[in-house]
Amino acid sequence: MRRNRSWQWMFCVLFIVSSQICLRADEPYARSRDYDLQHSSVVLRFDLEQKKVIGEVTHTVSPLREGLDKLSFDSVGLQIQSVKVSKSEVEFKTTENRLIVSLPRVGKIGEKIDVEIKYECKPTKGLYFILPDKNYPNRPKQVWTQGESEDTRYYLPTYDYPNDRLTTETILTVPAEWLTVANGKLISTTDAGRGMKTWTWRESQPSSTYLFTVVAGEFSEVRDTWRNIPVTYYAPKDRGDRLTVNYGRTPAMIDLFSKRLGVDYPWEKYAQSMVDDFVAGGMENSSATTNTASSLRSPKLVPEFPMDEDGLISHELGHQWFGDLVTTKDWGNIWLNEGFATFMEYVWMEAHFGKEQADYDRWETVRDWFQMRNLYAKPIVRHDFDDSSEFDQNVYAKGGLVLYMLRHQLGDDAFYSGLKHYLEVNRGKNVVTADLTKAIEEATHRNVDQFFDQWVYGAGAPKFEISYIYDAEKKQVALTVNQTQKAEGRVGLFRVPVDVEITNATGPKLYPVVVSKAEEMFTFPSATVPEMVIFDKGTQILKSVEFKKGKKELLFQLKNAGELGDRADAAVSLGKLKADDEAAAALGEALRTDKTLGVRLVAAVALGNLDSPAAAKQLLGAIQGAKEPELRSTIVQTLGTFKDNLEISAKLEEIANQESSYRARAAALQAIGRMKTVKAYETLTAAVIGDSPDGFLSNAALRGLGSLGDDKAVPLLREWSMPGKEIPSREAAISSLARLQRENKEITNQIAGYLTEPHFTVRMSAIFALGTRGDVSAIPALEALLKSNDLSIEMTPMIREQIDRLKNPGKGSLGAHAEMNTEGPEESAKGGEDQRLSHLEDLVREMNERLKTIEGRLPPPKQ
Ligand SMILES: [Zn+2]
Repeated sequence: MRRNRSWQWMFCVLFIVSSQICLRADEPYARSRDYDLQHSSVVLRFDLEQKKVIGEVTHTVSPLREGLDKLSFDSVGLQIQSVKVSKSEVEFKTTENRLIVSLPRVGKIGEKIDVEIKYECKPTKGLYFILPDKNYPNRPKQVWTQGESEDTRYYLPTYDYPNDRLTTETILTVPAEWLTVANGKLISTTDAGRGMKTWTWRESQPSSTYLFTVVAGEFSEVRDTWRNIPVTYYAPKDRGDRLTVNYGRTPAMIDLFSKRLGVDYPWEKYAQSMVDDFVAGGMENSSATTNTASSLRSPKLVPEFPMDEDGLISHELGHQWFGDLVTTKDWGNIWLNEGFATFMEYVWMEAHFGKEQADYDRWETVRDWFQMRNLYAKPIVRHDFDDSSEFDQNVYAKGGLVLYMLRHQLGDDAFYSGLKHYLEVNRGKNVVTADLTKAIEEATHRNVDQFFDQWVYGAGAPKFEISYIYDAEKKQVALTVNQTQKAEGRVGLFRVPVDVEITNATGPKLYPVVVSKAEEMFTFPSATVPEMVIFDKGTQILKSVEFKKGKKELLFQLKNAGELGDRADAAVSLGKLKADDEAAAALGEALRTDKTLGVRLVAAVALGNLDSPAAAKQLLGAIQGAKEPELRSTIVQTLGTFKDNLEISAKLEEIANQESSYRARAAALQAIGRMKTVKAYETLTAAVIGDSPDGFLSNAALRGLGSLGDDKAVPLLREWSMPGKEIPSREAAISSLARLQRENKEITNQIAGYLTEPHFTVRMSAIFALGTRGDVSAIPALEALLKSNDLSIEMTPMIREQIDRLKNPGKGSLGAHAEMNTEGPEESAKGGEDQRLSHLEDLVREMNERLKTIEGRLPPPKQ
């Protein structure tokens, strides 16, 4: 699964300020099994009026122990009507979360028993009805499921834990004009009379029940193929024209992954269905992924997001091998799904957008991971979820980085031969991390135990403090390396291979060393004083480094280091030299001329941190030559952090009104709000009612009004929050409304009214807005919501955090919030507290807007 990225970030932000725990219902350890569920034939019909499922499932089970006289299935809220075993009715009972079926006679190990269950339900989760209503009368009808982690049981009585696998047949009777998608191959469609049609799908390779899927509704379809395997895309029927432009690279990804892994795409087809109001970013159901429809960007905006949805698409596709073909045995080893899927995003990025773009993404991921301090003490493999979700950035971001490091340390050939062996010996099985280490060792004869001990079973990452001196007499560089992390709990000292590069008058020279102690000194020959010393060339290791360097060396490094990460590090350090004109000139040059987009982006942000007239001049001067929409919008956004600069205000007004790039205009609108320019209110309110694809500029202007903080905007924001407006506009308006007239209870009530709406993202925006607003009168509404039984995976922790924020207003210190600023704590200390909070909220809103995608950091695809 890929979580909706914006919510993920909100969690990270809030975990820092809160000690409130969020309980998870999931079972961290795999269950012991009584029976093997081998096959399920699932027959479903839908009563749309009543949002009801009419179901009939036949399970083929085989006892795994002697004396079995009862079968227990997971079942929540299902009205069980009858149960038959071998065609005869049998007794059953239901509990809050179980269906217990009495067998007519004691089962024998290995025999096959057919259990036929008829039931009905109005599911509160697991299966969702998206239907038109009076506010959205044209919305295409959709029914879709989301099983992970443990929600299949809300619409299907079954064995609902990953450590079992079954084949499936899915028979769906739906209105004749609908399309359906389920796991496996389409076997037939037949006329079911009365304007209905029956679709039969069959999955002949076993997978776990959380990967079972049904999507049905008024969809458009685009068909493609990869080596005769059907590759299909589905959009709600009014957005069919967006499929190819956003999803057309899928066959190329399937091809790359099949070749790189040495194991061909393993399923009979690959479908991707994009659905409205999806409760996550994407979900890798076997052979049939479901993604949020917000990944269907308007074709007019796609050129400005060249990377677009590739992160999401490659992540879910990667899961078809890692997660679906080979599946984690329990939630404690979920990184075997998520870390690999994240790594596969990197593999695609590197192959399609180039190594340097992938490096940039990795460099940012390393920095971001260190900002999420609540993760540091927790290992990747863990079974104690009582304080947070198991789907955290240790299993995603750190898991992906760990696989990257393993590849770097083993070399491509050994690494991929290890993965191939892992996939082959575990094909169709459920695994724990030990299966991976064993497969790697069998294939490569390299022992990786120590690597896994420190990175996967151990917690944290090294924090280095580095310095060096040059001894002119001995002609050598003495490099002192300290590991400063506290060795406690699961965090220890790290043993890591590191490349040290020394550059002097004769050029660069590389020295591989292994760092393993709390304090070590390494010496390297150098005939002359070094111009640059780089520790861990190219940022290969997940680590933080404090390396005190003089300005001269930083200037040299920004210009001359061969690897993106090292130049980016220099740019960040130069950005800390407040108001230094030499630094401004060098960063300006990097912004205009560095060969990578990544360093140019980092240089723009670093200029913002310098916060001087010279830095502003560099940024203004660079706009003209900045062709990439992402770079233009980053420059504009950065300009918005300068206070009281009339030239900048004028430039931002100009860009907001005239610029051809929608991204730059949107950034300008938000910057204008933040800077509170003289014409801000007029410009923003005009932009709200202006025309742009997907309301892209309206939404930016609605957000800008929140930063502006002018109460005149209240009626407009209240209007745009209301049902009937487009959902993304409502999200923007609600979060801005949260920041205005904070003592006005009517506004609090209006926002609280959205907590129970059917639209997932509106609910999430309302929950977060109430926390931001700080009006304690919202607490009962949030507490009531917590008790409702229709909360999906992301919602419960979000509500708890907001209640905590409201109850402990002082504790949610702005300083702690500001630490989540992507530019790091130091840089974010620049403005007043209000500015920092405002910046954070803008950041969150932007995340919100672009939803789970890592978008935009990359240049156009190579031709
Ligand atoms: Zn995933």
